[in-house]
Amino acid sequence: MSAIQDIFTEYGPSYIERFGDNMPSVHKKVINDIISCRTETCGMTVYDCPDRGTVHHFYRSCGNRHCPVCQHRKALQWTEKQLKRVLPGHHFMVTFTVPQQLRDFMRPHQKAGYGALFAASSDSLKKLSCDEKYIGGDRSGFSGVLHT
Ligand SMILES: [Zn+2]
Repeated sequence: MSAIQDIFTEYGPSYIERFGDNMPSVHKKVINDIISCRTETCGMTVYDCPDRGTVHHFYRSCGNRHCPVCQHRKALQWTEKQLKRVLPGHHFMVTFTVPQQLRDFMRPHQKAGYGALFAASSDSLKKLSCDEKYIGGDRSGFSGVLHT
């Protein structure tokens, strides 16, 4: 069991009960899939080895793309691929957060809210990277990743 699965198992049902009406259904599915990953809820595969006379039972994975157990190997492969693409030069990690006052709006309006967040953060990075006070370049590049 992963740490995320432990957390979701303990707190997921009460979280969904409290916030479920304002959560996208896909978020509830992710929580429930991760809770059930590699448990009897997902079913079992049985491997029978007649040569050795052994039988092996394995609980199936949920297969959800957000599940850290199911996607660990893919995540490592993705990271290796991205590291090969890194250009020479300085790199900075900049984090933009949503102000507390907007979070209740963001939960049920994620498409509009995250679109505005990416637009505002992109505009800010373009403006500041050209400013001599910060980077002062004319060829900066960036990519955005949404962590929820
Ligand atoms: Zn899984």
